Amino acid sequence: MEGTEELKRLMEDVKYFISDNKESFTFISAASDVKKEISALKSKNIMKGYIDNEKRSPNPDALKFLKETKVNKCTKCALSKTRKNIVFGEGSPESRLMFIGEAPGAEEDNTGRPFVGRAGQLLTKIIESINLKREDVYIANIIKCRPPENRNPMEDEMVSCAPFLKEQISIIKPEIICTLGKFSTEFIIGKDKGAISSVRGKEFDYEGTTVIPTYHPSYLLRNPSAKKETWEDMKKIRGLYFK
Ligand code: SF4
Repeated sequence: MEGTEELKRLMEDVKYFISDNKESFTFISAASDVKKEISALKSKNIMKGYIDNEKRSPNPDALKFLKETKVNKCTKCALSKTRKNIVFGEGSPESRLMFIGEAPGAEEDNTGRPFVGRAGQLLTKIIESINLKREDVYIANIIKCRPPENRNPMEDEMVSCAPFLKEQISIIKPEIICTLGKFSTEFIIGKDKGAISSVRGKEFDYEGTTVIPTYHPSYLLRNPSAKKETWEDMKKIRGLYFK
């Protein structure tokens, strides 16, 4: 009972801290104390029912099994010949929020980790702007091997690789998917919905999961004025996540 009251008070604090009108992706240091307290409550399992959807039952072992037995050995498309490392995805296997991009770049290929270059650093800031950490969410791409010269993924490569992403989604069972850019948005919501500029700002459904499309961080690096629209999308995600 005491924990419930404490939780209600914290949730009020969270609403207060997240109701500002930030226009950038600067971390909200004022909320750090609240975040620490929430983290402590989560570790005591007091947050169950508020933060965790009890209908979800992700299976972290299934994710590991998929990676080690299927993806790590994959030679289904020609990208297997040029990759240095497979970039499977990373983050919390039990995350309620999943970010999906299109394909690894050079730094991701070198490290085997998704979104670690300049665009990845911006994605980390974007995640932190809604009071989450990278480790709280799950980050993956449609394609697990780097297309040479960072060219766009080809249709046959996406068709070959897409079953792995679909399996990741079905194992993690996120409540919210944020698609990053044209390719992952089209993959998740279909090509018939329009350009990324016209679908962002709207909500879609992917097999019961809410989908919020937004711009790819690489696009934001080239077009900083679009950050404002992505911030609107992130506020929507924050509202769904902390509802
Ligand atoms: S891109 Fe996907 S399908 Fe192609 S080799 Fe890599 S893991 Fe396999």
